[in-house]
Amino acid sequence: MTPYVADPVYLNGQFLPLAEAGISPLDRGFLYGDGVYEVIPVYSRRAFRIEEHLKRLQSTLDGIRLTNPLTTDGWKAVVVKLIEGAPWSDQSIYLQVSRGADNKRDHAFPPATVPPTAFAFASPLVTTPADVRTKGVAAITVPDLRWARCDLKVISLLANVLARQQAVEQGCAEALLMRDGYMKEGAASNIFVVRDGVLCAPPKTELMLPGITYDVILELAAQHGQPVRIAEIEETELRAADEVWMTSSTKEILAITTLDGKPVGNGPHAGQPGPLGQQMWQWYQDFKNTVMRKG
Ligand code: PMP
Repeated sequence: MTPYVADPVYLNGQFLPLAEAGISPLDRGFLYGDGVYEVIPVYSRRAFRIEEHLKRLQSTLDGIRLTNPLTTDGWKAVVVKLIEGAPWSDQSIYLQVSRGADNKRDHAFPPATVPPTAFAFASPLVTTPADVRTKGVAAITVPDLRWARCDLKVISLLANVLARQQAVEQGCAEALLMRDGYMKEGAASNIFVVRDGVLCAPPKTELMLPGITYDVILELAAQHGQPVRIAEIEETELRAADEVWMTSSTKEILAITTLDGKPVGNGPHAGQPGPLGQQMWQWYQDFKNTVMRKG
């Protein structure tokens, strides 16, 4: 069987086989979902945008008032060692920090003597098959039932889990989260919309995760002179869009070609990936190849 987690994994300062990595059932990650995480793609054994991922990890830790157990250089060393130990050239590195295990269950923070639990592992990077990418995927819209700090990348993901499961049960790849008449993002992705040649993205607020891929896309749009509008996306705009894409570190740029059972877009491209999405995908590949695979 193909292993999806490479040995060794990292746990609290040690590198050890997954089968030997144990934590207390009193860990607050398990009891309360009290923790944070990051997912970093690795291309040709180089971590993509690691500074930005570690910065977002720090913002999330600050947001939940949890001290970072490692320095930036400490995390980088962990990531490098995990990459070296894994058999794949392209990988996905998962990092998680929880508020540790006290000797009792109490919602309030444990004493400062309780250390956080830090866990990290490497998996193979699962990319979208070319035939899926060139056809696009189906998505549904669902009410956004998450809390009011969606800018924090916390491990309590129950609303995202339920939304995504609803999508899967309807044969769809993603659920778009609607709040107060606006589309915020996907259950595990940011969402971009194209209207009349303008690339539209929701602004970074406390109700959306600031995606690393989202930033790369806006940088590429600026570099190539692509008109952009950063503003909340109304449900009516979403449904009238020429193109809709989902973006994330592992999905990169993936066209949503069917929304709630209806084809996305108008005219000859209706129900198919649109031209700007394909162009952006190419710019993204060129950028990755320049930054990651050369030299
Ligand atoms: N929004 C949510 C809710 C996500 O889970 C993700 C993926 N982790 C993203 C957006 C995209 O973020 P990134 O581009 O950093 O992977």
